[in-house]
Amino acid sequence: MLRIAVQKSGRLSEDSFRLIKECGIHFNNGVGKLKASSHNFPMEFLLLRDDDIPGYVADGVADIGIVGLNVVEEKEKDLDIVVKLGFSKCRLSLAIPRNEEYAGIKMLEGKSIATSYPKILGSYLKKNNISSDIHEISGSVEIAPSIGLADAVCDIVSSGSTLLSNGLKEVETIFTSEAVLVGHKGLGAEKKKLLDQLLFRIRSVQNGSNNKYILLNAPNHKIEEIANLLPGMRSPTVLPLATEGWSSIHSVINEDRFWEIIEKLKEAGAEGILVVPIEKMIL
Ligand code: ATP
Ligand code: MG
Repeated sequence: MLRIAVQKSGRLSEDSFRLIKECGIHFNNGVGKLKASSHNFPMEFLLLRDDDIPGYVADGVADIGIVGLNVVEEKEKDLDIVVKLGFSKCRLSLAIPRNEEYAGIKMLEGKSIATSYPKILGSYLKKNNISSDIHEISGSVEIAPSIGLADAVCDIVSSGSTLLSNGLKEVETIFTSEAVLVGHKGLGAEKKKLLDQLLFRIRSVQNGSNNKYILLNAPNHKIEEIANLLPGMRSPTVLPLATEGWSSIHSVINEDRFWEIIEKLKEAGAEGILVVPIEKMIL
């Protein structure tokens, strides 16, 4: 049985549960339950506060966990970062009151900075040879300057709107984060095997969402040119249309190169281009 620690409720939960579901692992988490198990994969779930996840995995109470890289870094536990998951992307930034001129990191020398991330902030300041007074608070960091608790803050930002609405402006990014799958160091052979099965499924889901299935029509004399633009997994599928001299070409295209390739396909004479999501992709 592989034990996974997942945030019970918060910004990581929905995407963590969705990923597990997309991996075909079903479980029931009744309201208020802290433990659940799957009926179709040997997996048990511990539903926790995200702060506790690195410690549980480091101690081996859980074998693996899904948590933000920011929390992993801050907790300084000895863990394996098994795979980056691409969701809950955010950054840890320094912010100062909006009406103050920012004159570089040196201006924070001797100032007080409120944060929930004293270790990440501390090592950043040290690296920059700045000594500030780090004021650790566990939540609502962004109000600290307006109530006179600190001169600046170091907090999690995604869009920056929370900072703005508290009269602050972001001046330095000190850490970038996303959700990661962490693992206990030294898992036994049985658990490793289960983890490999899970990783295989996670990669199939990730490959699926990084790629699109594309179908288009083209005159037969353009097939070669278009096939060169769409190499696909091995080579594209080419099927004859009912209209003489025309074919339908099917392939897979990477999300990152999508718009660039679509332009080229149109120039090459492709028509009726359809783009369809891929649920899973086994390479
Ligand atoms: P808990 O009650 O479990 O301790 P929390 O309040 O500490 O939860 P959340 O706000 O749910 O934590 O955030 C969990 C993680 O999600 C953060 O550690 C960070 O990695 C990420 N995160 C935080 N804020 C954002 C955001 N605005 N956008 C995207 N990801 C975020
Ligand atoms: Mg927390």
